Amino acid sequence: MNYKATKDGRYLLSLPNHCEISTALSEFCEEHGILSGIVGGIAAINGATFRFLDPATKQYVDKTFAEQMEVTCLTGNISRKDGKPYLHIHVTASRRDYSCIGGHLLTANVNGACELFVEDYGLEGVGRRFDTETGLNLYDFK
Ligand code: FE
Repeated sequence: MNYKATKDGRYLLSLPNHCEISTALSEFCEEHGILSGIVGGIAAINGATFRFLDPATKQYVDKTFAEQMEVTCLTGNISRKDGKPYLHIHVTASRRDYSCIGGHLLTANVNGACELFVEDYGLEGVGRRFDTETGLNLYDFK
């Protein structure tokens, strides 16, 4: 992972070509002891799987898009769940015809550049708990 850090826990990242963004970011958080914070950035990808939660059924619907896209906005947060980094990331990506798709990010494969920032808030006690009303893993602050 190519990165540069400030003295107060902010990072600029250039992810390797052909890596999977969620996995690479989780590994980066683990390696740098980042327990909570935010992440954002842009990328070029050649495939992604997004997730949609249907509030009526509380069932996840996953959909994979296997095509070259520009990630016009990646935004999300970092917390902890079950002793591991928990990333909650949403993505909007533009297609070859300039239309956009997006959603809750499961995976995305870099094909080109992936330039991100991570801000480590240095906060402990930022976890997740399953909420039965929404079917979501909501923030759980201790
Ligand atoms: Fe989400």
